[in-house]
Amino acid sequence: KEFTDLNQLVDEYLRLAYHGLRAKDKSFNAALETHFDTSIGKLNIIPQDIGRVVLNLITNAFHACDDKKKLLSDKGNSDFQPTVSVTTKKIKQHIEISVADNGNGIPDKIVDKIFQPFFTTKPTGEGTGLGLSLSYDIIKSHGGVIKVNTKDKQGTTFIISIPVKSKA
Ligand code: ADP
Ligand code: MG
Repeated sequence: KEFTDLNQLVDEYLRLAYHGLRAKDKSFNAALETHFDTSIGKLNIIPQDIGRVVLNLITNAFHACDDKKKLLSDKGNSDFQPTVSVTTKKIKQHIEISVADNGNGIPDKIVDKIFQPFFTTKPTGEGTGLGLSLSYDIIKSHGGVIKVNTKDKQGTTFIISIPVKSKA
């Protein structure tokens, strides 16, 4: 673990995800919003691990928006603006990182399975189904939790909470 500027870390991985997806798909035009709590300062974390979680969540969020965009445009509606919003917040002795998208949401019947290893709804070759299970383990090993709020057809928010004084 090392003392890391969380906002800077999140910002870095956000750009990484954005440019990666943009390079793959030139029509990719999701809007990115960030709300960083500047009172957070440095946290004792494994930066590559937390970065990886952020990268997983953001990539999933962009995919969910993209799926909805395609679905709507197949129906002749091209007004949809895919938007992903990333927020960091200090709440008492915890830090929250949330990643919200206005994609399709997660259907009730699969939401209990998304953290299981190899669970994916993506076509073969596009998803390994390991992103969320790995993210879950990483956050757990930092003494934190990861939760999901989702609304069918409206979007999804993943919320990571990690203690400021994470266990050594
Ligand atoms: P993968 O992205 O390889 O499919 P993940 O573990 O990252 O694996 O996600 C598992 C599944 O959870 C996805 O296939 C998808 O069905 C669902 N999921 C994850 N994030 C979102 C999201 N932001 N919106 C809608 N569905 C999601
Ligand atoms: Mg994924």
